[in-house]
Amino acid sequence: MRILITNDDGVFSQGIELLAAALGDLGQVTVVAPDREQSASGHSLTLHRPLRMRRLRDHWYSVDGTPTDCVTLAVMGLLKEGKPDLVVSGINFGLNLGDDVTYSGTVSATFEGSLLGIPSVAFSQEVAEGFSFADAATFAHNFVSALLEEPLPKDLLLNVNIPAGPLRGVKFTRLGHRVYQQSLVEKKDPRGRKYYWIAGNPVWTEEEGTDHAAVSSGYASVTPLHLDLTDYRGLESHSSLGGRVERRLKEADGS
Ligand code: MN
Repeated sequence: MRILITNDDGVFSQGIELLAAALGDLGQVTVVAPDREQSASGHSLTLHRPLRMRRLRDHWYSVDGTPTDCVTLAVMGLLKEGKPDLVVSGINFGLNLGDDVTYSGTVSATFEGSLLGIPSVAFSQEVAEGFSFADAATFAHNFVSALLEEPLPKDLLLNVNIPAGPLRGVKFTRLGHRVYQQSLVEKKDPRGRKYYWIAGNPVWTEEEGTDHAAVSSGYASVTPLHLDLTDYRGLESHSSLGGRVERRLKEADGS
């Protein structure tokens, strides 16, 4: 079992150190992670400059790029002779719930793993009273060893969030929704020019069965994800739009 570990908090973060140690007895662990923090980098891929991979010690490498770059360089470069059987991302400093997964570098690394045909799991830890990366690493160890009891489906893509404080159990969930209350702070710099700061605390809709509901009641949430973003209901409900556009194009052509 070859396990590739990455994150978006950077290769020197505590979360990845403890995660790699915790998974060490489950397989051959290779760490390839950004050389600095890349939180909220989303599924960003670096195409307009060369990327460098640096060996830090045995099985530990840093990349001057995003989490997605790290997975790409690891799978297509460093480990091309023996591709990983599992990609694990984290343990992130902070939750990655609901609508926020698309901003998340932690989760996006697992998107990339999945696109490359490798089962992938992301772990994120709530930062609040009682939070412990050591406990989260123990959780991750137990989670991955349970996972490995059965053959891994190729399309396995799991987003796992771990609450701070005592753990009540594990719940399978769907993504929750954030009420859009992200505030934008507008200020002036010393030269009188405006600058902006995206800030604000997320407010979540209260819905049973969501990742947010599980974590806020003390359960670890496990959300299976899929990269097919097609809205299959939309195929039906917007189906007349194509014809209406075509009619306009024809009219414009005729006039
Ligand atoms: Mn992060």
